[in-house]
Amino acid sequence: MNASFCRHCGRPLEPGASFCASCGNPVVQPAAAARTRRKPSWIPIVVGVLLLIMGIRIPLALALGVETTGTVRSVEQRINSNSSKLDHNYDIHYTFRTRDGKTGSGTTSMNRVYNVTRLPAEGSNIGVTYLPGLPFVNVPSDQKNLGWSTLIFIALGALLLVMGIRGTATVTRIRR
Ligand SMILES: [Zn+2]
Repeated sequence: MNASFCRHCGRPLEPGASFCASCGNPVVQPAAAARTRRKPSWIPIVVGVLLLIMGIRIPLALALGVETTGTVRSVEQRINSNSSKLDHNYDIHYTFRTRDGKTGSGTTSMNRVYNVTRLPAEGSNIGVTYLPGLPFVNVPSDQKNLGWSTLIFIALGALLLVMGIRGTATVTRIRR
């Protein structure tokens, strides 16, 4: 506390006085200095990175993957809370063998298939593109459409990552 002059009349103040002895106005305390520090928030960073990985999976497989032939294992109509039987959405599960002899598997979806002859038959061959060394990153080779989910995952992941790195501000008051 070193408010030594009255802000109202400019006269010297008694040390520690709450009111000016000359004009009677209250003594304005100098605002406590505040230091703002930002700390990264780890939860948005981790969730953001996971979303980014999910988002870039398909573009990465299409860009860097190698081609192989897979086998369609099952074709199932997808019925859940967001999708009724009448939506004609299907999940196609497939397996494939990598160049180093491992087995990989994947699922792709075909939505609004009103003509079931468009669906692949169980047991038929399907082109699969997978990332060497990371065969769980795979996609049917003919999947050119990245879809909204890719964009949403990337946008949301990037947003969370930026928010996490900016972090939360913690304000520390410094007493003078
Ligand atoms: Zn005064």
